[in-house]
Amino acid sequence: MSEGAFETARTAVESVSKGLFVGGSWRDAEAGGAFAVEDPATGKTLCSVADATPADGMAALAAAVAAQASWAATAPRERGEILRRAHALLLARREEFAALMTAEMGKPIAESLGEVAYAAEFFRWFAEEAVRIGGDHAVAPDGGSRFLVMRQPVGPSLLVTPWNFPMAMGTRKIGPAVAAGCTMVLKPAEQTPLSALALADVLREAGLPDGVLNVVPTSAPGPLVEPLLRDGRIRKLSFTGSTEVGRLLLGQSASQVLRVSLELGGNAPFIVFADADLDAAVEGAMLAKMRNIGEACTAANRFYAEAPIAEEFTRRLAERMGGLTVGPGLDPANQVGPLIDEAGRQKVAALVDDAVSRGATIRTGGSAPAGPGYFYPPTVLSGVPADARMRHEEIFGPVAPVTAFDTEEQALAWANDTEYGLVAYVYTRDLDRALRVSEALETGMVGLNRGVVSNPAAPFGGVKHSGLGREGGKVGIEEFLETKYVAMG
Ligand code: NAD
Repeated sequence: MSEGAFETARTAVESVSKGLFVGGSWRDAEAGGAFAVEDPATGKTLCSVADATPADGMAALAAAVAAQASWAATAPRERGEILRRAHALLLARREEFAALMTAEMGKPIAESLGEVAYAAEFFRWFAEEAVRIGGDHAVAPDGGSRFLVMRQPVGPSLLVTPWNFPMAMGTRKIGPAVAAGCTMVLKPAEQTPLSALALADVLREAGLPDGVLNVVPTSAPGPLVEPLLRDGRIRKLSFTGSTEVGRLLLGQSASQVLRVSLELGGNAPFIVFADADLDAAVEGAMLAKMRNIGEACTAANRFYAEAPIAEEFTRRLAERMGGLTVGPGLDPANQVGPLIDEAGRQKVAALVDDAVSRGATIRTGGSAPAGPGYFYPPTVLSGVPADARMRHEEIFGPVAPVTAFDTEEQALAWANDTEYGLVAYVYTRDLDRALRVSEALETGMVGLNRGVVSNPAAPFGGVKHSGLGREGGKVGIEEFLETKYVAMG
């Protein structure tokens, strides 16, 4: 086993700041409390970080409010340059941050290296967008007035992020907020505060003025977040996480009529037609299923393969998934790390047991190993019936349920039979069908002969219960801008 990444992780965990980042300084929580961050590969405590109280949340908000006016007045080029420097700093310390991320979240080190680059790319993209915030000018149809349309920052924004992409889900929000001229309070997930704290340090070093970004990890998110949403000084909520919590925060945002962006859960169908390039479909399936140990909102959750190729597809997928090496993510030999915690593992195990009890067949994997850490083996199931829970619920683990379909209509009906609508994957070589099916899918994104859709330059987001708004791409910055129209005589 290579010791390299383990050693890098130990040093990174030791050296990352573990306080609250408020008004440009590191400080303890008001009540002096701290909470433990766990290594999911061992179940052991990595370190403790300051545990923000509701009063700390309010202090962070006050710092963001105090910084808003001067930040909004900062030249767009200057805001962009800060992001550009942060992009370079993230890449320069890529190995350290990747090891830190794997230590607290579990994903294989190669994927963490990929995520640091992906996260940094949001800074580069929005560094370029900061100087392209345009407006409009027009003459009224009756010629009686002129319209001047300007774009202004929404104002202090609350960013709430999940544990599964601890760095990229932060930069996907921080990047556009900085570019637009908004100040922020970031509340990272309690499982993965270290990557967010590392980000704060990078942005400080890149020259972000005090108070523009404030980071408040807490073991009790509900009591900290709700008063902020009801305060009136926060003008925007950008949330990534589960549909259940997103819905709760949407309700809380109603009292102050906040601008809201929600990136929520998914239940992605992966449809393979008989005319598809089967090698490419299996390759794409591996990516769509196994990226991030299956703990991705974009993870393929249900595989629908056309009857003539269903068995061949299932056999090949089971062979590939069964051949993956499972173990601590810091060992580069391992391709599949642990799930985030025991609750996550038990949920996956329960979904597999449920499918089997309803008639599904296990083709590989299917039972959790003994020993430390929250590991679950890559698992393929065939003949998964429509009433199996995993066809309707987010699995969030390395489990691929395959069901054969007979017609395009049936595949589409099954694909859309869910309250979620984030992404769908389609494999076919028939161009007409590709466009027809892409149009008919009720999702915000479609992977067409591709197992990964995420790209900082593309608009990411869902429909139905998968969310509101888009992150990334040209529209990403819109979420942090208001439109003001000036009528001129
Ligand atoms: P989660 O909803 O439990 O937590 C997300 C965030 O909300 C965390 O910061 C958490 O501390 C906070 N939170 C939890 N309860 C809260 C409350 N009562 N009030 C205020 N904040 C609260 O989700 P998770 O388990 O961290 O992440 C997994 C979920 O995120 C999955 O459903 C996944 O699909 C989704 N996700 C979506 C996207 C996307 O872009 N659509 C990306 C990544 C993850």
